[in-house]
Amino acid sequence: MSLRGKVALVTGSTSGIGLGIARVLAAQGADLVLNGFGDADQIKELQQEIGSEHRVRTFYSDADVSKPDQIARMVSEAQSKFGSVDILVNNAGIQFTANIEDFPDEKWNAVIAINLSGVFHGMKAAIPLMKQKGWGRIINIASAHGLVASPQKVAYVAAKHGVVGITKVAAIELANTGITVNAICPGWVRTPLVEKQLADRAEQNGTSVEAETNAFLTEKQPMARFTSPEQIGALTAFLCTEAASTITGAPLPIDGGWVAH
Ligand code: NAD
Repeated sequence: MSLRGKVALVTGSTSGIGLGIARVLAAQGADLVLNGFGDADQIKELQQEIGSEHRVRTFYSDADVSKPDQIARMVSEAQSKFGSVDILVNNAGIQFTANIEDFPDEKWNAVIAINLSGVFHGMKAAIPLMKQKGWGRIINIASAHGLVASPQKVAYVAAKHGVVGITKVAAIELANTGITVNAICPGWVRTPLVEKQLADRAEQNGTSVEAETNAFLTEKQPMARFTSPEQIGALTAFLCTEAASTITGAPLPIDGGWVAH
């Protein structure tokens, strides 16, 4: 498989799953638009490291995906620098946990803006470029929480179910355009987003992160292990191949059996 000559834009690729996906797509030869927050020098280093290791062009956008105008600007900068956006991975996301009656309105609004509306605005900006080329791949990073619920995650579960829904709508609208649209639904992946949940839990229970990790995994997953960002990158890369060209509108679990039970 080679993605040389393709341009991939991965939102939230300065950390965790997005970074894993960006590395795998670059290893296949795709030019990269990196995005997300973080320390400017570290991001520059990351950009240079990925670019030189895989001999691909890289560009970093600091767009905040909760802002539709910034998403549109990022996509048009990608077009002017690299010619197009062939692969769009809507990955940026945040988490906040509380019971519904205690859930702050501003946290609801932020989770919906980043995790759901950001996906809509990303697709809206990139689809016209993909249509011009008659080829495109849109991969939305949903979650097992796009298919089943957990308590204290009302905004996240709503957003991720929404991502699965808009993925299906886009897949149907684009069925005969050469563009496929799918959602990846990971189970637990050990990233800063999950480290925070483990740390909060250890604090609440007066235990340690190590002590909480196995219980955290096995409460949800029959398989007591984390999926890695690189495994999610490999599934993303597969969805970009010709072999995957009739997979569209699918929510694809990669979750150690979470949604099977
Ligand atoms: P992470 O915290 O490691 O990374 C999140 C990335 O999103 C970072 O690069 C961050 O800078 C970026 N980001 C956050 N807000 C942003 C904004 N407003 N604009 C632009 N970028 C922004 O988290 P992660 O675990 O790698 O999560 C990535 C995606 O995977 C999320 O959509 C998350 O919901 C999903 N997911 C994670 C897990 C898991 O177990 N870690 C499981 C299922 C789904």
